[in-house]
Amino acid sequence: MKTATPRQMAIFIAFFSSLIAGIVMLITFSIENFNYLLTIILSLLIIFVVIYIFVFYILSAFILNKINPIYKTIYDINIPEDELKSELDETDIVTSAQKDVITWSKRKTREIAQFKQLEKYRQEFLGNMYHELKTPIFNIQGYISTLLEGGLKDQSINKQYLENTDKNINRLISIVNDLESISELESGIQKLNLKKLNIKKLFEESFEMNGILAKKSGIKLKFAKKQDKPVNVMADRKRILQVINNLVINSIKYGKKNGSTTIDFIDMGKNILVEVSDNGIGIPKRDIPRIYERFYRVDKSHSSKLGGTGLGLSIVKHIIEAHNQKITVRSKVDEGSSFTFTLKKA
Ligand code: ADP
Repeated sequence: MKTATPRQMAIFIAFFSSLIAGIVMLITFSIENFNYLLTIILSLLIIFVVIYIFVFYILSAFILNKINPIYKTIYDINIPEDELKSELDETDIVTSAQKDVITWSKRKTREIAQFKQLEKYRQEFLGNMYHELKTPIFNIQGYISTLLEGGLKDQSINKQYLENTDKNINRLISIVNDLESISELESGIQKLNLKKLNIKKLFEESFEMNGILAKKSGIKLKFAKKQDKPVNVMADRKRILQVINNLVINSIKYGKKNGSTTIDFIDMGKNILVEVSDNGIGIPKRDIPRIYERFYRVDKSHSSKLGGTGLGLSIVKHIIEAHNQKITVRSKVDEGSSFTFTLKKA
């Protein structure tokens, strides 16, 4: 309900007070001549003005006194008295203050929920990071201790233990590099360097880089169709190569022997849709919404054995979103997965 402004209330109270005073005066003094009537009207006018000024002053001071601390709390500012006074006169400041407080409390509730969620993520992230780093560090410590305690001279284990140490150090380096990428992407320190590039060429580069891994796993890397024309997009070369490598390596790691990875480009008008499909082990439906989370793996031991850090897809999603584009996945267990993302056509 709309409440009256202090000015309207003052007029209202002054009017009624004058009316009552007028009635009392009329009953008390009998009007015999014109002079009396004039005196009464004049007295009523004075009563009206005095009461009006008095009530208006008291009400304004009271409301200002109550409203100012509220605004100070919700906006963390002291609204100048003059500003509030003029608003007090023009608008229904009590109702609008009520609305402002409700909006403020809703905003605060939302912020608190977000903070709680962030705190949960932070705790999970720290816990996961601790677990990921713990294993290789303890492994390295174990191998080095054994070597120092005499294993170095033992021909049957020394080379193997050094190789294992090297493997664990490489694992630590992968985790640290992935964490660095995520931290750079999340903080937004590194701006994207958008340039026109032929994305087909980047896939060919990735095929070359990962050829040995693919051959070892018996996976064929290919394009869906023969494409002589370049597929030009606007993208950050280094970052998109990171996306492509992650998706291609995943398709090999989670592929099946004698399987294949197929790349397709679809013209969507303003965008190019890029599809990386495999016929590998697939992802269970319940895990699909979580695969972009940091350190999330469907099968932890399988992924670790293959050198996965569980950070790859999280980096991929960050990079695609930094390009203002989307990544999606379709997958079926035992049939395969298909990751698609879009990029602006150049
Ligand atoms: P990882 O380092 O473990 O590969 P990612 O972030 O790249 O981490 O992927 C997260 C998880 O998603 C993987 O552990 C794996 O279980 C699943 N995954 C990713 N790509 C594929 C794929 N092409 N086929 C099946 N599962 C996949």
